[in-house]
Amino acid sequence: MKSCRWGSYLAGLAGGLLLVGAAAFADSDSGPDRVMPTRERIQAAVDGRMPEAISALQRWISIRSVTDATDSYRDEKTRLLEVVAEKSRQLGFSARLVANDQVAIIDMDDQPPVIGILVHADVVPVADPGLWSHPPFSGQIADGAIWGRGASDDKGPIAATLYALAVIKDLGVELAGGVRVIVGTSEENMIWDDFETVAELGLAPARGWTADAAFPVVHAEKSFINAVVSFSDLADVHQTSISDWQGGTAPNSIPGRASLRLLGDLDKAAEAVKRYQRQHPEVKFELQLADGYLPDLLPNQLQIVAIGQSGHGSRPDSGINAITHLARMVASEGLLAGNYEDSAAARSLQFLGDVIGGSTDGASLGIIAHMR
Ligand SMILES: [Zn+2]
Repeated sequence: MKSCRWGSYLAGLAGGLLLVGAAAFADSDSGPDRVMPTRERIQAAVDGRMPEAISALQRWISIRSVTDATDSYRDEKTRLLEVVAEKSRQLGFSARLVANDQVAIIDMDDQPPVIGILVHADVVPVADPGLWSHPPFSGQIADGAIWGRGASDDKGPIAATLYALAVIKDLGVELAGGVRVIVGTSEENMIWDDFETVAELGLAPARGWTADAAFPVVHAEKSFINAVVSFSDLADVHQTSISDWQGGTAPNSIPGRASLRLLGDLDKAAEAVKRYQRQHPEVKFELQLADGYLPDLLPNQLQIVAIGQSGHGSRPDSGINAITHLARMVASEGLLAGNYEDSAAARSLQFLGDVIGGSTDGASLGIIAHMR
């Protein structure tokens, strides 16, 4: 996340909250502390808090609060929430953990909360740290940006939200009502059961917004379909020449890496990969033969790894989907030779490559919703 952009994020949030609270100033005595601060005063207060906000964010990035399929980092998520809660108390807020220590509830003051700000402390897994130009849990600052998993989604906005509230306190402004920050930890698996618990506990204010990944606020989260696609004649499913097909790390991110194993003519396969790569330089392929690193590969088996570019699932056009490129390469280059050519495996590869990988606006699925 670019720290300059982040600065405007923080200032924008502080300004937005002040506007929300402005109704109170109109009704109240206009003492020196009740005058709407000037933009310059807000900016100066933001600048004063910035170094501390940046170092808090760096620490939070270093905690591996990953949401994976088995929720194996649950304790790390709790640890991060404890650290965030402790920082919140230092900023003068009250903070506690609820929902089996998987949600932090942070109240700006002791007024009843009228606005809730939803943020999440969990991040998607890192498939291959080697692909990162700066280590994913480092929080390093380089080239004018803070680097790391969650820097923009969504630990940066947690820091921006809390420090925006701190800036309002610094300015001596009293808001019309309380602000509650709700920090969840199961956003990235799109289950959101933690927020359900918050609602069941009666802790959710009547109105609010999410500060998630993009400035200034997200007013509508993306939707999604979880679909299982099957092909009718699966009699040959066990006779395909491909196996161990894997790809992606989370359902809401663009798969940046995919691999499969292929049995057959390895020279032909290597030629096919080169040919495809010439036409699609945006995706890289690695070929691995049986050797010391892959001792379980058969002598006539080849592992093909496709490397694209991961990104957020809400912007499928912003990355390069490794799974669909791998599928299209295998299907279009005829690597399922002989008996496999007209198999369910071949048709599923074609579907993945041409229909799912063919477009990101629904055109290849026949459901496009706008005119080109
Ligand atoms: Zn998010």
